[in-house]
Amino acid sequence: MKNKTETKNIRQLFGTNGIRGLVNKDLTPEFATTIATFIGNFFKKRKILLGYDGRTSNTMIASAITAGLLSTGCDVYDVGLVSTPCIQLAVKQHKMDGGIMITASHNPPEYNGIKVIAKDGVEIPRSDELKIEKKFNQGTLKRADWTGIGQRFQLRNTPHEYKEAVKNHINITTIKEKHYHIVTDSANGVSSLIVPQLLRELGCKVTTLNADIDGAFPSRPPEPRPENLQDLATTVQATGADFGVAFDGDADRSIFIDEKGRIQWGDRTFALVEKDFLQENPGEKVVTPVSSSQVVKDIAEKHDGKLIWTKVGSTIVSHTMKKLKAKLGGEENGGVFYGPHQPVRDGAMTTALLLNIMAKSNKTLSELLDSLPLYQLEKDKTRCPHNQKMRVLKELTDDVKHLKPQTIDGLKLYFPDQSAILIRPSGTEPIYRLYAEAKSKKRAVDLVREYKSKLQNLIR
Ligand code: MG
Repeated sequence: MKNKTETKNIRQLFGTNGIRGLVNKDLTPEFATTIATFIGNFFKKRKILLGYDGRTSNTMIASAITAGLLSTGCDVYDVGLVSTPCIQLAVKQHKMDGGIMITASHNPPEYNGIKVIAKDGVEIPRSDELKIEKKFNQGTLKRADWTGIGQRFQLRNTPHEYKEAVKNHINITTIKEKHYHIVTDSANGVSSLIVPQLLRELGCKVTTLNADIDGAFPSRPPEPRPENLQDLATTVQATGADFGVAFDGDADRSIFIDEKGRIQWGDRTFALVEKDFLQENPGEKVVTPVSSSQVVKDIAEKHDGKLIWTKVGSTIVSHTMKKLKAKLGGEENGGVFYGPHQPVRDGAMTTALLLNIMAKSNKTLSELLDSLPLYQLEKDKTRCPHNQKMRVLKELTDDVKHLKPQTIDGLKLYFPDQSAILIRPSGTEPIYRLYAEAKSKKRAVDLVREYKSKLQNLIR
């Protein structure tokens, strides 16, 4: 491990989910080739799986990355257009030494990105990203001589293998008997290559929205946020479907619309999976970031689960699950990590798990979700310059010490009336965000107002 000064001088390339940037500005072919050469050096002349989602720049970036990897002596196994969870599973199933997924997930179309995957299918940890960044900053890359240049192969069967793997974790017969009708909204992303087919193989009637792959994302922005899901909600109601499911661009996140046309946020559907999982596996660990709803905590307490809170970030959830041998994780933004399949976010697996729960219980999605504890949410933000964020957090933490704050990521307070507030500085913007939850809307609003005012008094 390097000393602090060394770490401080390293230009950070990786963000919370790999490298992201504006195409042909930050993320040029030259940069992609160079960083791929350092990634190739990191993997040391091994077998690397390469896949990409439907963005317009993918052929350009994939070609550049292929060249960089081959130049170091790595062999590249190109899987073509796939979802992120599909390539993650394929890295493990095909016993590759690593993988690269080219995607900017939910970001706008002008972006692209690079996710580096370890041989177990999980994105590499921060400590390995630092090793790559350090070499990149030093400029010490190694290329193979002409006899040692890698070879490129094609693997085209991974979506089929992935669907079969998902099916191993559900009761296909019970689901088929129900003849569900599901509406999918792929946002012109790669979920359309896998999920509608998977659902049909489970005996579902499928209505697809935005299923043609188009890197311009003409139908809706690729992030499955409520404001982007009105067409899906309307279609679910108009067709009398059993539910609707919307994915982000690379299909690791999924947000559901119940049969009444109500958009259900990710921590509620996660709580449903959590409840079923804990009923089947009492006493098991469940991993979730501090940004998740109290409903996740309530379900863990009621069903004898051991809840582990983490910092916000999907790779943190994955690595915590691995470290603690936990089999379930979930995020409020629609990421469910089902360990028996793979400890990463997986939109198709989440969809299959919900179908399995519905079929097993013989209940509709709204009946199942309405049986969960209900909380009212209130959100706000306030400006705070980057250079004041840490001081403000420390002073606020001191100020509320008597309330025993949880300080895993920002500051979270739990109150005896089951309300809670999370106060977190944004990693990228000069703001603090506040999220309060309570049994009544008034209490949530009051909490946000009280702590926003405390924050503003501390921000000079
Ligand atoms: Mg994603």
